[in-house]
Amino acid sequence: MAGTGKFFVGGNWKCNGSKDSISKLLTDLNSSTLESDVDVVVAPPFIYIDQVKNSLTDRIEIAAQNCWTGKGGAFTGEISAEQLKDIGCKWVVLGHSERRHVIGEDDQFIGKKAAYALSQGLGVMACIGELLEEREAGNTFDVCFQQLKAYADAVPSWDNIVIAYEPVWAIGTGKVATPQQAQEVHVAVRDWLSKNVSAEVASKTRIIYGGSVNGGNCAELAKEEDIDGFLVGGASLKGPEFATIVNSVA
Ligand code: PGA
Repeated sequence: MAGTGKFFVGGNWKCNGSKDSISKLLTDLNSSTLESDVDVVVAPPFIYIDQVKNSLTDRIEIAAQNCWTGKGGAFTGEISAEQLKDIGCKWVVLGHSERRHVIGEDDQFIGKKAAYALSQGLGVMACIGELLEEREAGNTFDVCFQQLKAYADAVPSWDNIVIAYEPVWAIGTGKVATPQQAQEVHVAVRDWLSKNVSAEVASKTRIIYGGSVNGGNCAELAKEEDIDGFLVGGASLKGPEFATIVNSVA
């Protein structure tokens, strides 16, 4: 744990679940014992946020998985940061690799969303991460730095941002980064923040790891100095396993 905040664990449910399966997950989450010194957030699909808000313990905060770049209006299919606040969200996940590489969002578009979400009082889980071919070509740092720069160019402050380093090759593949691979990038990200934003932001911003984190590998990853938490996909759909990950804080 290097960032000066608490360990931070987010559960990204992606486009999964039904009223029934979410009700069961909420029962499991509500009955689990979670380390008190950990910020815990779950990100349901938009349409289930209200159900989650009504039934989930206040111990766990709620995030959206995306939001619009600005104020609401004639933007069919979009959800605004104001609406997320209205329904009780505290956070939003932005720049997830599935939004970048499946939907086609680019750095500037994501930066704009981050700036607007922050301006409305939401916290931002700002995702970055390289593709396998980018890693194999030795470009991991450059890719991450370029994505970071787009956030830095857009946001007025880093106070409400958690950076999620998620190598794309590790997401949903079962191929988790080794603790050393993750730590190496987290250190580089911190160093980039120090040189390009400020030493203070570098030391206090939490940098969390995502990509095939599960109940079996979380404890080893959590031991690394610069891994300040996790963003969890598949394993966040299982309440007891998600609790194990929350409680892995080293
Ligand atoms: P995963 O997803 O844990 O299923 O690999 C992580 C993420 O996409 O945030």
